[in-house]
Amino acid sequence: MLLALADTPAAGLTPPQSWAELVEAYSVETPCLALLAQLRWPNGFVCPLCGRASATNLREGVARCLNCRRRVTVTTGTVMHGTKAPLSAWLAAAWLATEPGRGVSAREVQQRASIYSYQTAWMLLHRLRLALSATVQATKLSGEVSVDEVLLGRRSAGVPGRGVLGQRLVAVAVEMSHGEPGRVRFGLLPDAAPSSLRGFFRRCIEAGSVVVSDTWAAYPPACAGLTGHRVVDDAAAGGRVCPPGVAPIVRQLNEWLVRTHQASVGVKHLQRYLDEFAFRFDHRDDPPGQAFMAALAALMAAPPASYQELMGDVVAPPQKPDR
Ligand SMILES: [Zn+2]
Repeated sequence: MLLALADTPAAGLTPPQSWAELVEAYSVETPCLALLAQLRWPNGFVCPLCGRASATNLREGVARCLNCRRRVTVTTGTVMHGTKAPLSAWLAAAWLATEPGRGVSAREVQQRASIYSYQTAWMLLHRLRLALSATVQATKLSGEVSVDEVLLGRRSAGVPGRGVLGQRLVAVAVEMSHGEPGRVRFGLLPDAAPSSLRGFFRRCIEAGSVVVSDTWAAYPPACAGLTGHRVVDDAAAGGRVCPPGVAPIVRQLNEWLVRTHQASVGVKHLQRYLDEFAFRFDHRDDPPGQAFMAALAALMAAPPASYQELMGDVVAPPQKPDR
């Protein structure tokens, strides 16, 4: 009943400890296949199309379910479904995108993973971002959470105003523990109205947490009945001060958008980039290779995405009006 889609099993789930180890172990398809199959089916194969556990191998990496008779690969029914890139390129991109303090462009993925087409590398990276974004958005911050809203990429960053620069209001929430930042979440805001902030809080912060903010008047109504609220005493500091933990993270975020992406991230893709940054930040203190494995798990868990979703062209279905 157990089906290994690869002929050679992966050597346990010990992650590579460095880029060199990754290249040595996972530059051909068989070990990549085995690793992904173990991540996807740790207790043995289950058909993603019908849920039954019996299948037969047709060839390496391709099985036929003995119940529904359909062909299944390790990427069937995931965000990797239908990919044109080799699995080794996916693993390379997952490694590069999750290295602490780094982040990677499609051009670099294309070069380092030896992908022929820039377009394929671009699509791969966007699918990876979708998966990381889903993981980030599945968990909320809790406890004491510093919140601020910032304009991303102000012209003071020294880069001409194109792409996102100077255009987008973004809410930043940082979980604080003993004065140190923990996890971070970002949310694009249409404006700084209480209702916009409140929507961000609902999505990203557990009810009953304590929001720490500046004196902006939108915060008390945004928090009311949802979270606690404490105001940073900026009068004592002689003006507006940033809640603890926020400023260094925003600086890192801006540097990454400018350095790696030349500040040219389109608005319709920005939330994914913010979530990619949050994923990397949340895993910054993990042992080597753990963030990489978490990214692969995210790829195995995320559902397929249409071309329109990848391009950010999907219009959200109309919401039912509140009664
Ligand atoms: Zn089946």
